[in-house]
Amino acid sequence: LFSAVELAPRDPILGLNEAFNADSRPTKVNLGVGVYFNEGGKIPLLRAVREAEQARVAAEQPRGYLPIEGIAAYNTAAQTLLLGQSSPLIAEGRVVTAEALGGTGALKIGADFLKRLKPAAKVAISDPSWENHRALFEGAGFEVVSYPYYDGATHGVNFAAMLDALNGYPAGTVVVLHACCHNPTGVDLGEAQWKQIVEVVKARGLVPFLDIAYQGFGDSIEADALAVRLFAAAEVNTFVASSFSKSFSLYGERVGALSIITDTKEEAARVLSQLKRVIRTNYSNPPTHGASIVASILNTPALRATWEQELAEMRDRIRAMRNGLVERLKAAGVDRDFGFVNAQRGMFSYSGLTAAQVDRLREEFGIYAVSTGRICVAALNTRNIDVVANAIAHVIK
Ligand code: PMP
Repeated sequence: LFSAVELAPRDPILGLNEAFNADSRPTKVNLGVGVYFNEGGKIPLLRAVREAEQARVAAEQPRGYLPIEGIAAYNTAAQTLLLGQSSPLIAEGRVVTAEALGGTGALKIGADFLKRLKPAAKVAISDPSWENHRALFEGAGFEVVSYPYYDGATHGVNFAAMLDALNGYPAGTVVVLHACCHNPTGVDLGEAQWKQIVEVVKARGLVPFLDIAYQGFGDSIEADALAVRLFAAAEVNTFVASSFSKSFSLYGERVGALSIITDTKEEAARVLSQLKRVIRTNYSNPPTHGASIVASILNTPALRATWEQELAEMRDRIRAMRNGLVERLKAAGVDRDFGFVNAQRGMFSYSGLTAAQVDRLREEFGIYAVSTGRICVAALNTRNIDVVANAIAHVIK
């Protein structure tokens, strides 16, 4: 049966982790990962999560099956994070939300539903994008194209080219947009640009699919939801994949949600009924633990205040590391201006390092980054930042 099965290519980032683990140099640093580490170099267990978990254990809740769409209080909380407390769309019952297995699971059930709805549509992703976007939508049966996004020359967005591409797509094309903290570049659109994107998407009848995996890591929970709220205000039928992996530091619990903005409450009921079919035939119903923790944090004022503070601490620490890296590179005599790193948002930075420089960082210093030059700023801390800055200064001089 399996004699003709070819070995699939290794995931490049997981391969990087294996090489890092095998490296015996004590000063090694892994900047290739996609997780937030605290100052101690550890994945944090948030206080809010610990308290919610203790309460859950104490309550001795049974572990029955959840409804196909997940925990109602979780879904409502996820919608409210996206659209705000006073969202008229939520009040009118026009937003469908289903718990999903992380942001990836949300993208996947959205993709499967869209494939049934628009079988001939193409999907457009940013160039570059999170590496799983293409594979995920291709796996769901779509042809995937990319629209111009990052401009290496300016360390910004090639906005004119992006708009041009969107303007050239036929109606019904699914456009995947990073709502905030773009992965891998860290480069986001500004408010005026988002308004233009919403206008083009609406005018051309495109289908926006927003991926929001870092809400709260950019400027604030509310500010990072701007793109979602602009699409909602424009009454565009929008798909949104939320991930709470990073914002609650619950990576392995697989907590995410798919939300879909519909035109009427009655339409929402029909859309949910079809989404439930997709879920039912994939994994029947979602897991209980992570979503119940997130729901209780979001719906309990004291826990929510703790979480918001912890999220702000993560955001501020990343900012401090960005700033620290820029300052140290300057102090190390690097003449290139790295100020753009401070303008980037979220955990990642397209550092501008070339593949050859990334190789040298690894070989000469045990510093691991993705060959595109993407570094995870959240893996820096006050103990390794000098080593990293000096090594970067060395390889770019
Ligand atoms: N979208 C983007 C842009 C991401 O960066 C990630 C995680 N790296 C995901 C989706 C997937 O999130 P999750 O781990 O919750 O599936």
